[in-house]
Amino acid sequence: MINLSGKTALVTGGSRGIGRAVAIKLAERGADVAVNYRERADAAAEVCEAITDMGVRAVSVQADVSSPEQVTAMVEAVHAHLGPIDILVNNAGIVADQYLAMMNEDQWARVLDVSLGGAFRCTKAVVRDMMKKRWGRIVNISSVAGLTGDIRRANYSAAKAGLLGLTRATARELAGHGITVNAVAPGIIETDLTAAMEPKRAETLMALIPLGRFGRPEDVAGLVAFLCSEEAAYITGQVFVVDGGLHM
Ligand code: NDP
Repeated sequence: MINLSGKTALVTGGSRGIGRAVAIKLAERGADVAVNYRERADAAAEVCEAITDMGVRAVSVQADVSSPEQVTAMVEAVHAHLGPIDILVNNAGIVADQYLAMMNEDQWARVLDVSLGGAFRCTKAVVRDMMKKRWGRIVNISSVAGLTGDIRRANYSAAKAGLLGLTRATARELAGHGITVNAVAPGIIETDLTAAMEPKRAETLMALIPLGRFGRPEDVAGLVAFLCSEEAAYITGQVFVVDGGLHM
């Protein structure tokens, strides 16, 4: 049984969807959890309530991960409430879909800045504490789009592929400090992000999934918890696909 008691985790974008399920799963395994959000304070508060009901500590921390100042302030706030961060899950991500020929600079830059830049900033902000403890776990939530590319998602696919490079570079750089860095690449997971999918597209995609269903946030969370555990100490720099067999 994975045991994360005594560990402190920060989950970016922990207020909804995959991040919410990850925050709850880490807490179930005994970790104290900081739940980051950008806007939805109510949703983050609800996750914290669910976590504290499990008998571990939780704090919600507002920050836009595209802002270096807000990321610094967020990590300081977590430090003050829960102590140094042992586990970082870089989950916050957005989409701004558009055909490449019509994609504007803002759509490109924003997606890169949140989904890739956010992971860089959060990793940089926590890594010194992990190095001091000679223990740390970082999990970057990428996407199958980062492996295969996706139509109308040049920005998102580039950010998610970039996360894989960031994962491997930091895994090499931090391995000597007892810190592992891995990536999880979900396929299609039922969250607010995918709720707006046109029914016809959903039907087409469903037919391509050998396991015959879209994923649930919990399908991703279990793997993340494992990668954050002692049992995963010899795994670093890897990408794990969670997609019901869509991409193989
Ligand atoms: P949701 O849209 O359901 O939730 C997004 C979360 O990220 C929310 O908690 C939101 O906070 C937070 N967030 C958004 N922008 C920022 C920001 N700038 N700074 C801090 N937090 C932010 O997304 P999912 O749960 O679907 O996706 C989570 C991750 O998984 C993303 O990186 C996504 O790319 C990836 N993924 C998702 C897949 C899917 O099918 N759902 C498939 C593959 C990868 P708030 O509540 O305040 O808005």
